[in-house]
Amino acid sequence: MASSKTCPKCGRRMEEGFTIDAGDHSVQNASFWHPGKPDKRWYGLKIDKKQKRKIETYRCTSCHYLESYAP
Ligand SMILES: [Zn+2]
Repeated sequence: MASSKTCPKCGRRMEEGFTIDAGDHSVQNASFWHPGKPDKRWYGLKIDKKQKRKIETYRCTSCHYLESYAP
């Protein structure tokens, strides 16, 4: 059964998607959620791989409102 969400703004159907983090490189990654504050190190942000969550973003088909979830 496909998960379907209802828009909290207008009550219409929301479609599932995800946000893409397009940086300087041609490689595009989906965005992730990570708990706490960003811990910047010389090599970049310190990331606990077990803690990060893929962000699912739902987009309203009517008013285009975005709602994000990190299950
Ligand atoms: Zn809406």
